[in-house]
Amino acid sequence: MAAAIIDGKAFGAAVRARVAAEVVRMRAAGVTPGLAVVLLGEDPASQVYVRSKHRATVEAGMASFEHRLPAATGQAELLALIARLNADPAVHGILVQLPLPAHLDADLVINAIDPAKDVDGFHVTNAGRLATGQSALVPCTPLGCLMLLRDRLGSLAGAEAVVVGRSNIVGKPMAQLLLRDSATVTIAHSRTRDLPAVCRRADILVAAVGRAEMIRGDWVRPGATVIDVGINRVAGPDGTARLVGDVHFDSAAAVAGAITPVPGGVGPMTIACLLANTLTAAAGAHGLPAPAGLTA
Ligand code: NDP
Repeated sequence: MAAAIIDGKAFGAAVRARVAAEVVRMRAAGVTPGLAVVLLGEDPASQVYVRSKHRATVEAGMASFEHRLPAATGQAELLALIARLNADPAVHGILVQLPLPAHLDADLVINAIDPAKDVDGFHVTNAGRLATGQSALVPCTPLGCLMLLRDRLGSLAGAEAVVVGRSNIVGKPMAQLLLRDSATVTIAHSRTRDLPAVCRRADILVAAVGRAEMIRGDWVRPGATVIDVGINRVAGPDGTARLVGDVHFDSAAAVAGAITPVPGGVGPMTIACLLANTLTAAAGAHGLPAPAGLTA
């Protein structure tokens, strides 16, 4: 294997430690950053995510407010809860766990969150602010990828970056962040012609597709930095479930300069960046400067 392994687990732990240190300082000044998480229904994966977000929030010294509602909760009731959280000065960050049950309008719900408390960075105001180069709360997963890339490469200016995937939560904000750091950015998707050739152009290749091991080693430019956002559950040879990324790790690691593993790459950065965003939101609410190195 040629590639260096980008250790998101260690980097994420370091980010969390920095957040925790900032929280100590903020609490000494009388402010306890608070994160409210809203979960509807019993989806097992969402329950696991919400539990680990709660644990990480408390470990960072922040206040955690959990709101668990039945799957059948109506839109008006959910919007009323969001309005209460918007008005609550102890709550600096609000996260509504997605996906929402089908009878709810996710865009309407997300856009009801005060943009200053939108720690997922999904509000249309934050998306617009990111796209127009204004300070914004940025979606956690792409923010984590950006931190890993800056740590690995220093300046991203002039680098050829290819982002595979154009979702609002990963692909598009990732592309915006790379553009903001002056990379030359291509966004690829399911209609892209000759995707392997497009990927081979990339100094920075970010895979956010949701297709197990789709990107093979011969799609990777020698020496490229590969960030694998994908989390796919597949059956291993003995029938047990295992997690793989959107990149075929072994063949890509043989050519890349550096690569994130799955698990242990991007995943741990997402939760670390949620804490970083909550800290940023709390600082903003109290007129304090945004914490250095923890924002885009
Ligand atoms: P979406 O399903 O919303 O988007 C997938 C994107 O991939 C779409 O833009 C789609 O294109 C594109 N795509 C699908 N198939 C192909 C193909 N064959 N060739 C090229 N492009 C293709 O997924 P998300 O962005 O939400 O998530 C992507 C992956 O990242 C998933 O595996 C998810 O589990 C993981 N993830 C991981 C997180 C983490 O913390 N590590 C957080 C969030 C997501 P089109 O638009 O044309 O349909």
